[in-house]
Amino acid sequence: MPLPDLARHTLEQASEQWTPMRARVFEAISGFDRPVSAYDIAESLSKSEGRRVAANSIYRILDLFVANNIVRRIESANAYVVNSHPGCAHDCIFLVCDDCGKAIHIDDDNLSRRLRTAANDAGFSSVRPVIEVKGKCGDCAAR
Ligand SMILES: [Zn+2]
Ligand SMILES: [Zn+2]
Repeated sequence: MPLPDLARHTLEQASEQWTPMRARVFEAISGFDRPVSAYDIAESLSKSEGRRVAANSIYRILDLFVANNIVRRIESANAYVVNSHPGCAHDCIFLVCDDCGKAIHIDDDNLSRRLRTAANDAGFSSVRPVIEVKGKCGDCAAR
């Protein structure tokens, strides 16, 4: 299933509507090859729609997308990427390139399980690992 269809399906399963505005925000995020901020999205939509779109209205939609796991937030960059597998129950790991800003999504359940266990052992509950690795992506390293 193409990603926008998958995203729409996921929202509808959660009894949320796939409104034209939500579809456009999703499309705008997909259009970038790096994580994007709400301001980037607002700017891109303002251009394509020929009217000013406020970042506030984008944030509301992003919150909904993140809550339904169709978009993931890169905490260290305060930016968002489309989730290529909305059904993913992993603690996703993002490799964020210092040079081009691209975020590569990997999953390593052994690693995240060990983090969860270590946190639980330290008396931490409702653990939600946020794993982001900074470095240089393959493309930038080859340059
Ligand atoms: Zn994942
Ligand atoms: Zn790079």
